[in-house]
Amino acid sequence: MNTLSSFNRITVKIGSALLVDRKAGLKREWLASLVADVADLSSKGADVLVVSSGAIALGRTILGLQSRALRLEESQAAAAVGQIALAGAWSEELSRQGLKSGQVLVTLGDTEERRRYLNARATISTLLKLKAVPVINENDTVATSEIRYGDNDRLAARVATMMGSDLLVLLSDIDGLYDAPPAHNPDARFIPLVERITPEIEAMAGAAASEFSRGGMRTKLDAGKIATTAGTTMVITAGDRLNPLAAIDAGERATWFKASATPVRGFKTWIAGNLEPAGRITVDAGAVRALLSGKSLLPAGVTLVSGQFSRGDTVAILDAAGGEIARGLVAYDAADAVRIAGLKTAEIETVLGYEARSAMVHRDDMVMSRSLDNALDAEE
Ligand code: GLU
Repeated sequence: MNTLSSFNRITVKIGSALLVDRKAGLKREWLASLVADVADLSSKGADVLVVSSGAIALGRTILGLQSRALRLEESQAAAAVGQIALAGAWSEELSRQGLKSGQVLVTLGDTEERRRYLNARATISTLLKLKAVPVINENDTVATSEIRYGDNDRLAARVATMMGSDLLVLLSDIDGLYDAPPAHNPDARFIPLVERITPEIEAMAGAAASEFSRGGMRTKLDAGKIATTAGTTMVITAGDRLNPLAAIDAGERATWFKASATPVRGFKTWIAGNLEPAGRITVDAGAVRALLSGKSLLPAGVTLVSGQFSRGDTVAILDAAGGEIARGLVAYDAADAVRIAGLKTAEIETVLGYEARSAMVHRDDMVMSRSLDNALDAEE
C-alpha cells in the first residue's frame, strides 16, 4: 500500500468530531499531534492543505448551544464564533511547528464557477508558494442551504482537484469502507482498496452518518468520485488517535481509493475536452516559441482576439497561420483582452484601470495542442 510521503500535494480533511469535544471544546492535544504530522510531511517536501471542519461544533460549545437543534441563522452565528477560535488554534499550533498558515473560507460558487474558481485557485497556489499552509473551510456564516456544500467531504474533494493534489486524506470517525454498516452488522467486511467506485461499492455505503458531521459514508464516496476521476487518490481512515497521519504509514486500517488519471492529466483533459472554445487568440511567432517552451501567454504576444468569452472560459490559442497551438482558461473577459492585446505588462494597468494579472492564459491553465518538435518542423 502507499505511504503518505510518496505524494507531493496532500489535502487533509478533518471532521468536526475529531477536533471538537461537545463539553471541553477544542481538542488541543489531538490538534498538536496532527500538526506535528503535517510538519513532518511538509519537511519531506510535500505541500499540505488542510480542510478543517469544526466551526459550527466549536461555536455551539462556546455559545452554550449544544442541546437543541439550531435554526439556520443560529448555526451561521455559531460558525462565525467557532471559526475565529478554530483558525486561531490552527495558526498557533502550526506556528509552534515553525509553519505559517492562512485561512481561506470558500463558498460553493468559489469552486464551481469558472471565474471565481480561478481566483480561489490563484490565492491558494500563492499561499503554497509562500510556504503558508492553507486552512480551508466553507464560509458557513453566509452560505445558505441552496448554495452550500454543507459537508466538507465534497468541499475537500473539490479543493483537492482544483489544486491538483495527488492525495486527499479524509480523517473521520470511521476507519474506512465496509461492505455493510459495521455498527449494525458484526460480520461487516472491511474493504482496504477500491479500484473504482461502482454501484456495488456505493450500495455498501448506505446512509450511515456519524454524530457530529453531516457527511456519512455517502458523501465520502461522492468525494471519492470527484477526487479519483480527476486523478486524486483518496484515503479514508479513523482520525480519533494521536498522530493520525503517521498512523496511516504505520499500517493502521484505512481504505484507499485508486485515482483513474494523474491530477495534471485530469485537469488538462478537462480543458482539452471543451470541444467548442469560447474564443480564439492569435499570437505572434515569439509567443508561439514562449508557449512551446512552457511559458504563460502574455498580452504582448497577442495579435488578434475573437469571440465572446468571459474570464475562466476556454479559448484556443492559434499561430499566425491559424494552427492551434494550445487551449487554456483565459484570465480576461473578451472586451478587456481586446484592449490589452499587444501591450506590455507595465501598460496594462493604465489601460484597464485596475491592477491585473500579467498572463492572458497562465501556463498552469493551459494544455498544448502541438508539441515542440512538430512546431519546429512546421517553422522550417
Ligand atoms: N463546515 C462545517 C463546519 O466547519 C462542517 C461541515 C461538515 O461537517 O462536513 O462546522
